[in-house]
Amino acid sequence: MSKIIIITAALTGSIPTKQMTPHVPITPEEIAESAFNCYKAGASIVHLHARDGEGKPSSKRAIFKEITDRIKDKCPDLLINISTGGRGRQQSLRGSALSLGPDIASLTTGSVNFPNQVYSNSPQLIEGLASKMLKYGIKPECEIFDSSMIPNALRLKDNGLIKGNPYFNFVMGLQGAIPADEKYLMRFLEDIPRASPWTVSGIGKHQLSTNMLGINLGGNVRTGLEDNLFYQKGVLATNESLVERIASIAENNGRKVGTPDDARKILMLGP
Ligand code: MG
Repeated sequence: MSKIIIITAALTGSIPTKQMTPHVPITPEEIAESAFNCYKAGASIVHLHARDGEGKPSSKRAIFKEITDRIKDKCPDLLINISTGGRGRQQSLRGSALSLGPDIASLTTGSVNFPNQVYSNSPQLIEGLASKMLKYGIKPECEIFDSSMIPNALRLKDNGLIKGNPYFNFVMGLQGAIPADEKYLMRFLEDIPRASPWTVSGIGKHQLSTNMLGINLGGNVRTGLEDNLFYQKGVLATNESLVERIASIAENNGRKVGTPDDARKILMLGP
């Protein structure tokens, strides 16, 4: 088991609004501030979504650029992971920020039902995004919502569209996708290469228990308001409070919270 654990903070997502929680960062300035606070609390990676001037999800390169520039100003070594997700957005736009060359970008390797819609990722879209990531030297984070997405990711490696061992993020507990249950995670871990780094994210009330599995099984964790708004029942969280809590639990369970440098090594990224 790796002693070091990498914490990713998923700051904004597509769903949370200021009406749902005042703590969700929406503007590039707010997102950069939240990233810096999470970095100080132990996050070595931030997973970013962009919002337009009305707060709606956006794939616009210019907005992602402003967010990443502001983050780089505050904490130059923090690793940037940008979303290529696209609730309600044109598929052709989903890779438009990849030319910014972030360290990592999410790549969902299949389609799945979300609570109110189909999250559609055709083989052509997946291969197109993977090719772009390869071109710009970006490590794909294979976002796994269901078991079939693992062989799909491994096929991308076989076809030369992913270099090295794929990096997996198991997203558990979303209605319509894989339940947040240890038995599914254990099965996922049997299906991926031993040398593949992996992280685990839990949606809503499943965030903490799923993160605990990541800590105890030797993986890495993602926390943040994208996945869950609450610190505990009825108490709203901030991104940094969630990072602080999981860093403290990890340290108390024999794991050492990794730096961005550690994350580069674990994810096998270039300098
Ligand atoms: Mg995301």
